[in-house]
Amino acid sequence: MRFYNFPAEGEMQCDVRLFATELIYNEIEDTALKQLFDASKIPGIIAVIGMPDLHQGYGLPIGGIMVSRLNDGIISPGAVGFDINCGVRLMTTQLEFSDIQKNLEKIMRKTQIKIPAGVGEERENNFNKNEFKKIVTHGVPYLVNEKGIGNKNDIDSCEDNGFIKGADADAVPEKAIERAFNQLATLGSGNHFLELQRVKEVYAEDCGLFEGQLVFMIHTGSRAFGHQIAKHYSNIAKKSGVATPTKNLASFKIDSEGGINYKKAMAAAANFAFANRHLIAHKLRHIIKEFYPKESFDLFYDITHNIAKKELYQGEEVLVHRKGACKLAKEDIALIPGSMGTFSYLIKAQNSKANELSYYSTAHGAGRKMSRSQAKKDISQKDHFNSMGTVKLFHSSRDSILDESPLAYKDINSVIDALEKTDLAKAAAKFEPLAVIKG
Ligand code: 5GP
Ligand code: MN
Ligand code: MN
Repeated sequence: MRFYNFPAEGEMQCDVRLFATELIYNEIEDTALKQLFDASKIPGIIAVIGMPDLHQGYGLPIGGIMVSRLNDGIISPGAVGFDINCGVRLMTTQLEFSDIQKNLEKIMRKTQIKIPAGVGEERENNFNKNEFKKIVTHGVPYLVNEKGIGNKNDIDSCEDNGFIKGADADAVPEKAIERAFNQLATLGSGNHFLELQRVKEVYAEDCGLFEGQLVFMIHTGSRAFGHQIAKHYSNIAKKSGVATPTKNLASFKIDSEGGINYKKAMAAAANFAFANRHLIAHKLRHIIKEFYPKESFDLFYDITHNIAKKELYQGEEVLVHRKGACKLAKEDIALIPGSMGTFSYLIKAQNSKANELSYYSTAHGAGRKMSRSQAKKDISQKDHFNSMGTVKLFHSSRDSILDESPLAYKDINSVIDALEKTDLAKAAAKFEPLAVIKG
């Protein structure tokens, strides 16, 4: 089997598996690997896995998967991440570049206004408190079926149909609602983006895309809602009594009061994020239709990369935390963004033993090569400018963008190569960026 296996020893409860080529392995910081080893030391953990985009995070590294038994296991807010259900969606057009060229600037500018980053902006919310609570309890199906926003395919083409069961607004701290009430249909800043891409190459002919096709990729999550929930429950978990090697991996026993409440609030944050991506896409749909009335602007797929879910594995139910990692769920596909200056990919699972051993997981991006502060220090404006090629950047914040430079991320092609060489996935299509909105 082509992955690195570090057998359990000392306090480790299980082996640590790392799906990487030698090239990728040599690039991974020791601190990220140590975080994987720490995760394997929590009682009840039965598998810890790293993907090729692995890099240091809070508690569990990004690109990390941590699997817990259900009966005596744990759930850890730090292993889900602060942006609960951050994810990526792809919307398709039937347009090609020559159709859109003359309107491109106008479309992107209009989009930037209609879909703000949300930093410090006062926006009127279209939903009242009651509706907000319904959105976070019932996700995308509520918006489609009861508010008439979007269509059936918008539900069907989401992972988990855009809705995680068991959400309860009563488990959400009031501050999370206060902070995020006006943040639905906002993009967020930093790594979050809305990008116009062109299908550069199709490798899997039946993947449903064609070369030259224009698509929009959207990356965002649960905004301040998920962040406040994660912070709140991380702090409570530190007092839960579960022994963890570091406080950032603070955990709840799954069936403890804290664990049950966190699951309810995490599901609410997940529904917020699904709804957020749905509302953004729907606004964009209106803009596209203004310019091209015949366009249906369909959802291709919406996938999450920060969540903990119960899954059936070899006949047993387990809890899988994926942090900066995707599940190969619907049709075994995943969306893997690269950076605003490089390719992004659609991949498909290989149906291999490696898929089984990784709990059907995959990388979620290229992964950072540098921390934000290091990128701002080490990347020159000129090198950054060159790395963007002809991609048009629409950046609303006055902050430096150098921490989001393509140069701050690993090489997406070597991450995809690692997915292929470790038998996890194969590239199905490749996208090239044309224009990107960054918050
Ligand atoms: P994360 O969720 O870990 O913050 O980011 C997911 C991945 O998105 C990153 O690892 C990176 O590879 C990719 N990414 C970040 N910014 C951009 C962007 O502007 N455009 C594209 N296509 N990918 C990006
Ligand atoms: Mn995010
Ligand atoms: Mn993300």
